[in-house]
Amino acid sequence: MTARELSSLRKKYVLLREELISTLQKSEFEVDIAGDAVDKLQGAALLRVQNQLSKQNIAKLSTLERAIGKIDLGDYGNCEECGEAIGFKRLEAIPGVSLCIVCAELAERNR
Ligand SMILES: [Zn+2]
Repeated sequence: MTARELSSLRKKYVLLREELISTLQKSEFEVDIAGDAVDKLQGAALLRVQNQLSKQNIAKLSTLERAIGKIDLGDYGNCEECGEAIGFKRLEAIPGVSLCIVCAELAERNR
């Protein structure tokens, strides 16, 4: 991967990280749990969905943090399993990805 590709990747990841952080901050205040029983039930259901989403977003966020950290160390872009270079297109399509397509498919199959 060229230095230019790496820096464009970093820019993209930082932007995504900011979006995730602002989404997470917003979602904390959106559910109104005051109101009658139905409102409360709906509120609770919404909260559950939001918690699930938040968890996914937090996981994404930590993946991004890790990837950005690795970029800064100059240690990003190789598969953590086999050490082969992960294609730039793949790194762009799946932010923070740490496995090449071959290892990812193997891991998927072994799950
Ligand atoms: Zn691999």
